[in-house]
Amino acid sequence: MSQAPFHREQGRTQGVCILGATGSIGASTLDVLARHPERFRVVALTANSNVQALVDLCRRFEPELAAIGDAALRAALEQGLRSAGLRTKAAAGPEGLLRAARLESAHCVVAAIVGAAGLSATLAAARAGKRLLLANKEAIVCAGSLLIEAVRSSGASLLPVDSEHNAIHQCLAAARDAERAVLRLILTASGGPFLRRTDLTGVTPEEACAHPKWNMGRKISVDSATLMNKGLEVIEASRLFGFAPERVDVVIHPQSVVHSMVEFVDGSVLAQMGSPDMRTPIAYALGFPERIGSGSPRLDLLQTGPLQFEAPDQDQFPCLRLAYQALREGPASCIALNAANEVAVESFLNRELPFARIPAMIQDVLAECSTTPPDSIEAVIELDLAARRRARSVLARSAWNC
Ligand code: NAD
Ligand code: MG
Repeated sequence: MSQAPFHREQGRTQGVCILGATGSIGASTLDVLARHPERFRVVALTANSNVQALVDLCRRFEPELAAIGDAALRAALEQGLRSAGLRTKAAAGPEGLLRAARLESAHCVVAAIVGAAGLSATLAAARAGKRLLLANKEAIVCAGSLLIEAVRSSGASLLPVDSEHNAIHQCLAAARDAERAVLRLILTASGGPFLRRTDLTGVTPEEACAHPKWNMGRKISVDSATLMNKGLEVIEASRLFGFAPERVDVVIHPQSVVHSMVEFVDGSVLAQMGSPDMRTPIAYALGFPERIGSGSPRLDLLQTGPLQFEAPDQDQFPCLRLAYQALREGPASCIALNAANEVAVESFLNRELPFARIPAMIQDVLAECSTTPPDSIEAVIELDLAARRRARSVLARSAWNC
């Protein structure tokens, strides 16, 4: 990809804000945007703590605003932007992220922060009536109805970037009345790096993050290895498309060529296929309803070999079952599931919790969680914090050797 400066053609282009610009989805999004300078201009970029990476992106894309999540890094960001001779304004802390999400010149906001940390900014973009490209699945898992309601009432639009939901969005375009026409949604899962491994003791963070098909951030890579990623995606699909848990199925498809499917009442099953490259769903969401180039390699079916499909083993990977359980129990359980998982994954990545103990820890937290559905973002955050406290106390009670 060319490293030439990103051209700004004010007026004829759509302003794009990327929340979580320094991550894997952020990089893929910037790659697609740089291919279409006549359509898009980057107006805001955010990162959590990597000031240098954020300033480097600002040098290249010259946004109006750069925001760093860690408030203590405001001065470092200001200094970095000044040294680079940029006119980009600096913002910091939670308020800085909200300012980026609501920026007037941002027509489109890409929600690509990882974890519940992205919730407030994602919701702010929805409330501000933006065209919201959603990668931050934890936001919809924790605050599905609030987010959908905010999109409805502000006139925002919501386009899924997660490859499975993006595939379903594409397949559902063939249905006038999805509620009556569709029997079920079928999410595909690669199965992660441990698909055929029967003994999960001694798994290291390096092994868990070595995904066979996708190159992603560390948290979602561990989620893919436990199948919690698919569990979160079942909840995401149920919330996004309004389908009950029993109408959302999962099949293991190790080749990751079919990104998901929709089964209709007449026996038709529509699938969306493509190379496993996030630039395809990102380009679909950016260009919708038009199609634009993504830079991802074209799919050569003659080279992919046989496509396999099999049932997930929920005994070997109990996180998927836990996610269905949380979805059936209701929104408070989904928040607890997500919070416990975030704490467990972090603790696994810090080599404090064995990989094989992740599901049991989440189950312990779920068993004790509140059942009262939250009616506000504040209530969601309160439930999230309470579940994190419980997760940490479960961790503290147990002693493991990693
Ligand atoms: P990543 O770890 O590579 O990047 C995360 C981004 O969020 C970074 O820019 C980081 O600075 C920012 N961030 C992290 N913590 C933050 C905080 N507390 N406050 C503010 N910003 C913070 O993650 P990723 O793989 O790009 O995933 C991002 C989201 O997209 C996740 O929700 C993930 O589930 C989803 N997603 C990712 C992929 C993929 O291929 N990577 C595919 C589908 C969905
Ligand atoms: Mg996915």
